[in-house]
Amino acid sequence: MSERYTNFIGGSWTAPASGAYLPDINPAHRGDVIGEFPNSDATDARCAVEAASAAQGAWAALAAQARGEFLRKAADILEARADTVARGLMREEGKSLPEAKGETLRGVTLLRYYAAETLRPDGEVIPSAGAKTMLFTRRVPLGVCALITPWNFPIAIPIWKAAPALAFGNAVVLKPSEHSPLTAWHIAKCFEEAGLPAGVFNVLFGEGARVGEALATHPAVAALSFTGSVRTGKTIAGWAAAHGKKYQLEMGGKNAVIVLPDANMEQAVTLTIQGAFKSAGEKCTATSRAIVHADIYDEFAARLVERTELLKIGPGDDPDAYLGPVITEAARDNILRHIGAATTEGAKLLCGGSAPQASPLDEGFYITPTVFGDVQPEMRIAREEVFGPVLCLMRADDLNHALTLLNDVEYGLSASLFTRNLDAALEFAEKAQVGMVRINGETAGVEPQAPFGGMKASSSFSREQGQVARDFFTQIKTISVDRAG
Ligand code: NAD
Repeated sequence: MSERYTNFIGGSWTAPASGAYLPDINPAHRGDVIGEFPNSDATDARCAVEAASAAQGAWAALAAQARGEFLRKAADILEARADTVARGLMREEGKSLPEAKGETLRGVTLLRYYAAETLRPDGEVIPSAGAKTMLFTRRVPLGVCALITPWNFPIAIPIWKAAPALAFGNAVVLKPSEHSPLTAWHIAKCFEEAGLPAGVFNVLFGEGARVGEALATHPAVAALSFTGSVRTGKTIAGWAAAHGKKYQLEMGGKNAVIVLPDANMEQAVTLTIQGAFKSAGEKCTATSRAIVHADIYDEFAARLVERTELLKIGPGDDPDAYLGPVITEAARDNILRHIGAATTEGAKLLCGGSAPQASPLDEGFYITPTVFGDVQPEMRIAREEVFGPVLCLMRADDLNHALTLLNDVEYGLSASLFTRNLDAALEFAEKAQVGMVRINGETAGVEPQAPFGGMKASSSFSREQGQVARDFFTQIKTISVDRAG
């Protein structure tokens, strides 16, 4: 029998009240059960919130630098065991070992970054109308923050939420995805071993639908920070609004690159492939559309397809594999349905488009990297997030037409333009309706010290990472001091 894990609540490893557990399955080998994790319910959620609530006041009362010191210790612990954590991440999520290691080290960087943020000024002095009045602001914590996170970046996303939340004096209940619990367990271990006071950081495993409402509506929860699908995000926003919680949502994307005739073609092809197929296309910032100027469309398509056909798929520890499996069997079947619908609607399948049937790949949830040509803007494949290794090629007459196609979707997360023309680059940066614009870069990947987030349906207007995380995880208190006589 595989190992059983427990929730981390109030500094103790605690079994779920209902006794229900879920298997954590390796998407590269469906028979490999990594462990069993609690499928928590509302009772567990309430316990976690109450533990966080009991601990938050004393945590907030510490000097900010002292809180930063705990984050620094957790960073050192995580760094020392990065290989083990990355291997577990690869095994439960499916991405390649180098990508898993890179993500783990990004977690280390984020912890250190927010440890350092505790040294920054936490308010400002404002000139008062009273000559002897001292008027100033302070940024103070919100209280208990519930963090609900997806499986695709199971260490980076929980840490980019938890590190600023903790640094600025909040207590945290993390509800990681049920598909990547082991990585969240490692995060909790690092905080525990760093000596974080009991209850300041809690982890509640299990399916979101079982605990979501209890977390989102609990009177002691002040704020909800969510990353995941638009559908879940809207549900959480509804609860948050109805119960007066602060909330932030980071959701899906339908990210595009635009390729102009003066682009470095080799660079554009390489980075389009990277954006579309690394991590099996399961990044919110993955490239799912390439909008190519008509003058170079045929050449771009031919070079891209030739290279894509050579990509090897395989488990994350195969050093030759470019992309691994997708997260679950249900995800694989959903991607295959999108592929089927695109073919029915008239998109031209240029390569890929199937699940490998031969052993050993049939033991995992793989999809061959897929490229569709002649995709029209009204097709579902051009509009809906597929979240898999599927790329659409679309033809544009000029930059304006390309921008119209780019912006003609509900999402607005990231986009990139390949060009050497400065005017085109500036025009694109101004008119692309996305939160993250790149010139001659991959749509995926932003540095942790820079704001991250989308526009339109991709987000709820706030941003994560960098210094802007303070905006979400604190509130402003205005203080006025006068002399007694
Ligand atoms: P998901 O919405 O299914 O799940 C996300 C989290 O919400 C999980 O922890 C899940 O258990 C929980 N959840 C599910 N139903 C819930 C409910 N009713 N109440 C409360 N919680 C609930 O998303 P996913 O499949 O885990 O992740 C993929 C999605 O995440 C994609 O749409 C992707 O674009 C998006 N994503 C966005 C970003 C970003 O920063 N914009 C980053 C990564 C992933």
